[in-house]
Amino acid sequence: MKELVLASGNPGKLRELTALLAPLGIRVIAQDALGVPEAEEPHATFLENALAKARHAARQTGLPTLADDSGLCVDILQGAPGVHSARYAGEPKSDARNNAKLLADLADTPHRRARFICVLVLTRHAEDPCPLFAEGQWQGEILLAPKGTGGFGYDPLFWDAHCQKSAAELDPATKNTRSHRGQAIQHLLKKLVLADGNCPSDNCQGK
Ligand code: IMP
Repeated sequence: MKELVLASGNPGKLRELTALLAPLGIRVIAQDALGVPEAEEPHATFLENALAKARHAARQTGLPTLADDSGLCVDILQGAPGVHSARYAGEPKSDARNNAKLLADLADTPHRRARFICVLVLTRHAEDPCPLFAEGQWQGEILLAPKGTGGFGYDPLFWDAHCQKSAAELDPATKNTRSHRGQAIQHLLKKLVLADGNCPSDNCQGK
């Protein structure tokens, strides 16, 4: 498999996943470039949404598809914005308004622990009975004000204590070694090597 369709229209995800997969000789094609519209994301979990996105793009293109459903989960907000991260401040999607809402929601609290979550799903075709799944997490704190200009989404508000920088201050390669997306890709690649073209799930053996 040398080409994958990315089931997302998010340019930040496309940039990061392209860089993560290029060293392996895997080319990532944005679904927009193939005329695939964004899928519905009606579910309550990253996993269900990622699977829905992957199947949608695979059905439309007939190609192997990688989907990324990700978001920011803040402990004191019971995991919000979670699966609603992209539209936390409503339609139309806006990183600036999402960040402003998050700061307002946390205005009165010192409890600022949060994590980014990324769930990746790889389907070899639309009806693939054994898609590969992988998850990555990145623990941090929500800052009192934005810091840095890189990255996308909530990066300017996400403090990585290990690097002593916000995610928006990290260079792209460092973000990929630290991030939820980078972790998830590493897990997915291990599963891909183990699967070696076969159905990797015990549940599917013999089918
Ligand atoms: P999705 O496209 O429904 O998976 O929503 C992803 C949303 O989560 C993005 O629009 C961002 O708001 C947020 N998000 C996911 N990954 C990152 C990241 O690496 N940095 C900053 N925000 C992220």
